[in-house]
Amino acid sequence: MIQQFWLPKKESKHPIVNPPFLLPYYAARRFVLKICAVPSKSHGGGLTNKCSMCYNAFHRTFVWGELHLENRVILHSDANSFFASVAAAEEPSLKGKAVAVCGSVEERHGIVLAKSEKAKRYGIYTGQTVGDAKRACPELCIVPPNYGLYADYSERLKRIYARFSDRIEPFGLDECWLDVSSAIKKFDDGRLAADMIREQVKEELDITVSVGVSFNKVFAKLGSDLKKPNGTTVITPEGFRVRLKGLPVESLLGVGRSTKRALNRYGIFTLGQLADCERGFLVKALGKAGSTLWRYANGLDDAPVVTAAEAPPVKSVGHGTTPPRDLTSEEEVFRLMLALCQDVGTRLRQFHMRCRGVCVSVRDTALCVRSMQAATERATDNSGDIARAAFGLFRAQGGLSSPLRSLSVTAIRLESSDAPLQTDLLSDPLRLEKRERLDKAVDAIRKKYGKAAVLPASICKREFVFSDSGISLPLTRT
Ligand SMILES: [Mg+2]
Repeated sequence: MIQQFWLPKKESKHPIVNPPFLLPYYAARRFVLKICAVPSKSHGGGLTNKCSMCYNAFHRTFVWGELHLENRVILHSDANSFFASVAAAEEPSLKGKAVAVCGSVEERHGIVLAKSEKAKRYGIYTGQTVGDAKRACPELCIVPPNYGLYADYSERLKRIYARFSDRIEPFGLDECWLDVSSAIKKFDDGRLAADMIREQVKEELDITVSVGVSFNKVFAKLGSDLKKPNGTTVITPEGFRVRLKGLPVESLLGVGRSTKRALNRYGIFTLGQLADCERGFLVKALGKAGSTLWRYANGLDDAPVVTAAEAPPVKSVGHGTTPPRDLTSEEEVFRLMLALCQDVGTRLRQFHMRCRGVCVSVRDTALCVRSMQAATERATDNSGDIARAAFGLFRAQGGLSSPLRSLSVTAIRLESSDAPLQTDLLSDPLRLEKRERLDKAVDAIRKKYGKAAVLPASICKREFVFSDSGISLPLTRT
């Protein structure tokens, strides 16, 4: 299978550089490119009609490249019931029992954050209140989350993966893609590598992983979901159509609840049906996502495994949520913004970035979306500043005219936090420095004990439920 594509030709006035998104292919020696060219905005997927450096419509001459997709061997390793397994690895008496990792029960709004395989069999689900979970399974062992420990296990997992490949792309705490193409020449040997990874993880960490082996990232991830716990699934370039055709569409990466509903409405229930669709039809039905899903279902995903060092620089940092009940007052809107911005600020500081602008997007109960953006007073990485800028913008743009179903806040116009900071005459540099130190201390506590460990007093009224998977309003009030 050869994926052909075009890149802008070298005649443009711009310097010739290796497009950064192709570096992993060069490294894996799976890429044949006739001439290197200016980085193109639309890569790998057909003609671009403007030069991406200057957006000049006349700079549109192209060179031809090809990518041998079927030569790749990509593994996706996913730890089984990660939080619960780590708890059992640390406390052997929990082994084989129904275990649920839950938020604080004393605060009476604890919810299930993760559960073991056995707990799953009792119908325990993530997001369920502790009371309901206990009723469903009276012998359920409840343990508090320990985020420092999860991060530690995650690092140890990566160290095991690093024995097999230097091309590792983490996906969350407990999942990783590994490109083992440069070490493994025969596709069948991918299974061997996967089995060795499973064995070493079990032996050294006393937890289990499921591994998918395939020729692209999407199928590797799908494979790791097929045999749980502790299984290897191989999806070959020759056999994927037969192997996958009966699977439900939602098993594909990128098909969430709403996409599934949309596909089902058109009578598309399985991956086979999705692959057999006209691409144009899917584009009409789902927009750009339709084209991506069609490519995925037909085994044409050509995304490289990108290591942390090669990941493109962050352009924005955002966080959004759809709470289980609608927001009906401006005070609620501000609190949710403040809650969302805790995460935005922490991530900005992690990336050593500050933002000079903020973007707010709200969706009302009629599903109308309003997006707005504005500059912040000064470059900032402080959660409170970002939330205040977001709320000021929201009010300036009309505020709350009808109940809101969902809300997101995004920090935009990012710059490095090493850039010189222009402070105005009225701001007290000592106070700013103090606040910076406070942010650092809060980040350290959140890293060790989880996102809900430290919160601004104004959102501590138990209005929202915090967990590492997100923020929500309580499902049931107890
Ligand atoms: Mg997992």
